[in-house]
Amino acid sequence: MTHNYDWLDTERETLEHAGLRRHLRTVRSAPTGTINLDGRDVVLLGSNNYLGLSTHPKVIAAAVEATRTFGTGSSGSRLISGNSELYTTLEANLAEAKGTEAALVFSSGYAANTSVIPVLAEEGDLILSDALNHASIIDGCRLSRATKKVYQHCDVEHLKTLLSESSTFRRRLIVTDGVFSMDGDIVPLPDICDLAAGHDAMVLVDDAHGFGVLGKDGGGTAAHFGLEGENIIQMGTLSKAVGALGGYIAGSRPLIELLINRARGFIFTTGLPPATLAAANAALDLIRSTPELRQRLFSHAKCLKTALIDLGYTLLPSETQILPVVLRSPQRATRVAESLLAEGVFAPAIRPPAVPPETSRLRLTVMATHTEAEIQRAIDAFTAVVP
Ligand SMILES: *Cc1c(COP(=O)(O)O)cnc(C)c1O
Repeated sequence: MTHNYDWLDTERETLEHAGLRRHLRTVRSAPTGTINLDGRDVVLLGSNNYLGLSTHPKVIAAAVEATRTFGTGSSGSRLISGNSELYTTLEANLAEAKGTEAALVFSSGYAANTSVIPVLAEEGDLILSDALNHASIIDGCRLSRATKKVYQHCDVEHLKTLLSESSTFRRRLIVTDGVFSMDGDIVPLPDICDLAAGHDAMVLVDDAHGFGVLGKDGGGTAAHFGLEGENIIQMGTLSKAVGALGGYIAGSRPLIELLINRARGFIFTTGLPPATLAAANAALDLIRSTPELRQRLFSHAKCLKTALIDLGYTLLPSETQILPVVLRSPQRATRVAESLLAEGVFAPAIRPPAVPPETSRLRLTVMATHTEAEIQRAIDAFTAVVP
């Protein structure tokens, strides 16, 4: 290569020295409790397939059937020819699961956040964003021309101060993860909704890790707090507990109407494959009808968490299936993850920029489909590895 590309080598070396260089691993099996990773069988503690639905026979059958009937691709953007009846059913099911008037499906959760936030807030508006919000929210804020202020993580008093100081803005939007993706804690949504009501602000909750897992029938963070009927815009993804792919917004009919007309990540992209939509529909049925999956998930989380604390590991105070084991430096997180892998357990190291500096960690997630023996194998590996 010519000299004008030399900077690529410099960038790679910089990442390497900071302990931040990332590598792709290759998985050669379905995302069940034990996977084949780079040729070795290891217990998987790094999947968002929380309920195991991506390998559920009913979900697979629905995906196969939809492919036979409708083919592999959707052939167009949804506003042209890509809006099959599978979408109509899925959006009705999502609205019902979320307790809202309507819902709209996007190609991914990332696409949902980056296209919806710029519709909700424009130049002259204010976005108030939690310090630990997901990168797709941060990018959505960047794409909007609104002013952004970051409040300290789940700090309702700080949010209140910022709201009181901002009455000159036209519209105000509070945006937060429901379950924080790297910490596993749950947002104090009732307090935030009270504040929003008192200050005439909108609330957008990203429920990527809450839906299917928290609340009655797995309805998610709002359901967990009994806030289904409240005036909250609920975003979520079909790629985690639902086991498929796609993002969604659930809210009022006027909101969904406006998104269909304005959300660029909805308009300028091809619809999802029929198999994906059918899989999501089948998974939504199972989420509603199989509360045992949630019970198993939480029982595994509790068992692993208790064992790790007993072993002397430092865990963040998560109340969910996401268990962060804090190791601070990126080098240490990587080293412990490698030792665990040698013991047959895949526990991914999460480093900046996914988490703030000096909070590098292992982000462990359990699945309803883990066996008790797999959880025990994980505990044995953590026992063998001294951090
Ligand atoms: C995973 C995730 C997203 C993005 O969803 P995808 O469907 O994977 O694009 C958005 N927000 C949060 C909090 C997430 O964890």
